Amino acid sequence: MFKLLMKTLTVVLTAGMMTTLTSQSSSAATITPTWGHWQSLTITYHCASTSAYYRSVWQGAIRQWNNTGVVHLWAVPTRQKADIELTSAQSITRAQIFAGYTDYSYYKQPHDNRIVSAKSTLNRGVLTGYHYTKAQRTNVATHELGHALGLSHSQDKHSVMNATNRYAAISAQDRVALRGAYAHQRA
Ligand SMILES: [Zn+2]
Repeated sequence: MFKLLMKTLTVVLTAGMMTTLTSQSSSAATITPTWGHWQSLTITYHCASTSAYYRSVWQGAIRQWNNTGVVHLWAVPTRQKADIELTSAQSITRAQIFAGYTDYSYYKQPHDNRIVSAKSTLNRGVLTGYHYTKAQRTNVATHELGHALGLSHSQDKHSVMNATNRYAAISAQDRVALRGAYAHQRA
Protein backbone atom coordinates (compact mmCIF):
# COMPACT_ATOMS: atom_id res chain seq x y z
CA MET A 1 0.00 0.00 0.00
CA PHE A 2 2.84 2.41 0.79
CA LYS A 3 4.23 2.46 -2.71
CA LEU A 4 0.86 3.17 -4.23
CA LEU A 5 0.07 6.64 -5.28
CA MET A 6 -3.09 8.16 -3.88
CA LYS A 7 -4.87 10.36 -6.34
CA THR A 8 -7.95 12.48 -6.24
CA LEU A 9 -10.06 13.35 -9.20
CA THR A 10 -13.33 15.02 -9.92
CA VAL A 11 -15.66 14.07 -12.70
CA VAL A 12 -18.64 16.12 -13.64
CA LEU A 13 -21.83 15.64 -15.55
CA THR A 14 -22.68 18.56 -17.74
CA ALA A 15 -26.18 19.81 -18.28
CA GLY A 16 -27.72 20.60 -21.64
CA MET A 17 -25.64 20.22 -24.76
CA MET A 18 -22.18 20.81 -23.31
CA THR A 19 -19.80 18.05 -24.33
CA THR A 20 -16.44 19.62 -23.53
CA LEU A 21 -15.65 17.42 -20.55
CA THR A 22 -15.57 14.10 -22.38
CA SER A 23 -11.91 13.36 -21.87
CA GLN A 24 -11.91 9.78 -23.06
CA SER A 25 -12.10 8.80 -26.69
CA SER A 26 -13.22 5.22 -26.89
CA SER A 27 -12.26 3.15 -29.91
CA ALA A 28 -15.52 1.25 -29.86
CA ALA A 29 -18.29 3.76 -29.45
CA THR A 30 -20.72 1.49 -27.67
CA ILE A 31 -18.33 0.27 -24.96
CA THR A 32 -18.64 1.76 -21.49
CA PRO A 33 -15.06 2.23 -20.25
CA THR A 34 -14.04 1.69 -16.63
CA TRP A 35 -11.35 3.42 -14.58
CA GLY A 36 -11.25 1.38 -11.34
CA HIS A 37 -13.07 -0.74 -8.78
CA TRP A 38 -13.62 -1.14 -5.05
CA GLN A 39 -11.87 -3.98 -3.25
CA SER A 40 -15.14 -5.60 -2.17
CA LEU A 41 -18.39 -6.31 -3.99
CA THR A 42 -20.22 -4.96 -0.95
CA ILE A 43 -19.80 -1.19 -0.94
CA THR A 44 -21.26 0.97 1.80
CA TYR A 45 -22.90 4.35 1.31
CA HIS A 46 -24.38 7.11 3.39
CA CYS A 47 -26.93 9.53 2.04
CA ALA A 48 -26.14 12.87 3.63
CA SER A 49 -28.77 14.95 1.85
CA THR A 50 -31.19 16.64 4.25
CA SER A 51 -33.85 16.68 1.52
CA ALA A 52 -36.30 13.75 1.55
CA TYR A 53 -36.83 14.34 -2.17
CA TYR A 54 -33.12 13.96 -3.00
CA ARG A 55 -32.74 11.01 -0.63
CA SER A 56 -35.48 9.38 -2.69
CA VAL A 57 -33.67 10.25 -5.94
CA TRP A 58 -30.48 8.64 -4.58
CA GLN A 59 -32.46 5.58 -3.47
CA GLY A 60 -33.64 5.16 -7.06
CA ALA A 61 -30.03 5.22 -8.28
CA ILE A 62 -28.94 2.74 -5.58
CA ARG A 63 -31.74 0.39 -6.60
CA GLN A 64 -30.67 0.54 -10.27
CA TRP A 65 -27.08 -0.47 -9.53
CA ASN A 66 -28.12 -3.13 -7.00
CA ASN A 67 -30.50 -4.57 -9.61
CA THR A 68 -27.52 -5.31 -11.87
CA GLY A 69 -26.63 -8.07 -9.38
CA VAL A 70 -22.94 -7.17 -9.64
CA VAL A 71 -22.34 -4.96 -6.60
CA HIS A 72 -24.21 -4.69 -3.30
CA LEU A 73 -24.65 -1.12 -2.12
CA TRP A 74 -25.36 -1.14 1.59
CA ALA A 75 -26.55 1.81 3.71
CA VAL A 76 -24.62 2.76 6.85
CA PRO A 77 -25.71 5.37 9.42
CA THR A 78 -22.76 7.77 9.25
CA ARG A 79 -20.57 9.17 6.50
CA GLN A 80 -17.48 8.20 8.51
CA LYS A 81 -18.37 4.52 8.06
CA ALA A 82 -19.35 4.87 4.40
CA ASP A 83 -17.29 4.16 1.30
CA ILE A 84 -19.47 6.48 -0.76
CA GLU A 85 -21.15 9.66 0.41
CA LEU A 86 -24.22 10.81 -1.53
CA THR A 87 -25.54 14.31 -1.22
CA SER A 88 -27.14 17.27 -2.97
CA ALA A 89 -26.07 20.89 -2.95
CA GLN A 90 -26.77 24.27 -4.39
CA SER A 91 -23.32 24.52 -5.90
CA ILE A 92 -21.59 27.88 -5.74
CA THR A 93 -18.02 26.69 -6.18
CA ARG A 94 -18.71 24.76 -9.37
CA ALA A 95 -19.91 26.43 -12.54
CA GLN A 96 -23.66 26.23 -12.93
CA ILE A 97 -23.43 23.83 -15.90
CA PHE A 98 -22.80 20.79 -13.70
CA ALA A 99 -25.90 18.68 -13.01
CA GLY A 100 -23.85 16.44 -10.74
CA TYR A 101 -20.25 15.69 -9.84
CA THR A 102 -18.22 13.00 -8.13
CA ASP A 103 -14.97 13.36 -6.20
CA TYR A 104 -12.97 10.27 -5.41
CA SER A 105 -9.66 8.96 -4.12
CA TYR A 106 -7.96 5.83 -5.34
CA TYR A 107 -4.73 3.90 -5.27
CA LYS A 108 -3.06 3.68 -8.61
CA GLN A 109 -2.19 0.08 -9.43
CA PRO A 110 -0.28 -1.38 -12.40
CA HIS A 111 -3.35 -2.45 -14.37
CA ASP A 112 -6.20 -0.88 -12.49
CA ASN A 113 -7.15 1.59 -9.79
CA ARG A 114 -8.51 0.65 -6.40
CA ILE A 115 -11.09 3.15 -5.22
CA VAL A 116 -10.89 4.07 -1.53
CA SER A 117 -13.47 6.83 -1.18
CA ALA A 118 -16.03 8.71 -3.25
CA LYS A 119 -18.52 11.51 -2.83
CA SER A 120 -21.26 12.18 -5.39
CA THR A 121 -23.24 15.39 -5.37
CA LEU A 122 -26.38 16.41 -7.25
CA ASN A 123 -26.49 20.09 -8.17
CA ARG A 124 -30.00 21.18 -7.22
CA GLY A 125 -29.73 24.56 -8.95
CA VAL A 126 -29.05 23.03 -12.36
CA LEU A 127 -31.59 20.21 -12.00
CA THR A 128 -34.33 22.66 -11.07
CA GLY A 129 -33.21 25.38 -13.49
CA TYR A 130 -33.26 22.99 -16.44
CA HIS A 131 -36.58 21.45 -15.31
CA TYR A 132 -35.33 17.87 -14.89
CA THR A 133 -38.11 15.43 -13.97
CA LYS A 134 -37.57 13.12 -10.98
CA ALA A 135 -36.81 10.22 -13.35
CA GLN A 136 -34.20 12.37 -15.12
CA ARG A 137 -32.67 13.41 -11.78
CA THR A 138 -32.47 9.70 -10.93
CA ASN A 139 -30.60 9.14 -14.22
CA VAL A 140 -28.10 11.86 -13.21
CA ALA A 141 -27.72 10.25 -9.76
CA THR A 142 -27.20 6.84 -11.40
CA HIS A 143 -24.54 8.38 -13.68
CA GLU A 144 -22.65 9.90 -10.73
CA LEU A 145 -22.89 6.70 -8.73
CA GLY A 146 -21.56 4.89 -11.83
CA HIS A 147 -18.41 7.05 -11.61
CA ALA A 148 -18.15 6.25 -7.89
CA LEU A 149 -18.28 2.52 -8.78
CA GLY A 150 -15.51 2.82 -11.39
CA LEU A 151 -17.21 3.59 -14.71
CA SER A 152 -16.03 6.28 -17.13
CA HIS A 153 -17.86 8.21 -19.83
CA SER A 154 -19.40 6.34 -22.76
CA GLN A 155 -19.88 7.78 -26.23
CA ASP A 156 -23.15 5.86 -26.49
CA LYS A 157 -26.21 8.11 -26.11
CA HIS A 158 -28.14 5.14 -24.64
CA SER A 159 -25.59 4.64 -21.84
CA VAL A 160 -26.28 6.10 -18.40
CA MET A 161 -22.57 7.02 -18.51
CA ASN A 162 -22.86 9.32 -21.53
CA ALA A 163 -21.31 12.66 -20.51
CA THR A 164 -24.48 14.62 -21.25
CA ASN A 165 -26.91 11.98 -20.04
CA ARG A 166 -30.34 13.06 -18.89
CA TYR A 167 -32.65 10.47 -20.46
CA ALA A 168 -30.82 7.12 -20.32
CA ALA A 169 -30.90 4.53 -17.54
CA ILE A 170 -28.36 1.69 -17.16
CA SER A 171 -27.77 0.00 -20.53
CA ALA A 172 -26.68 -3.55 -21.33
CA GLN A 173 -23.17 -2.22 -22.07
CA ASP A 174 -23.08 -0.45 -18.68
CA ARG A 175 -23.84 -3.78 -16.98
CA VAL A 176 -21.13 -5.51 -19.03
CA ALA A 177 -18.63 -2.84 -17.98
CA LEU A 178 -19.52 -3.16 -14.29
CA ARG A 179 -19.25 -6.96 -14.45
CA GLY A 180 -15.84 -6.59 -16.12
CA ALA A 181 -14.55 -4.17 -13.50
CA TYR A 182 -15.50 -6.56 -10.67
CA ALA A 183 -14.87 -9.87 -12.47
CA HIS A 184 -11.78 -10.76 -10.40
CA GLN A 185 -13.72 -10.36 -7.12
CA ARG A 186 -16.29 -12.91 -8.25
CA ALA A 187 -13.78 -15.45 -9.51
ZN1 LIG B 1 -19.78 12.00 -15.78
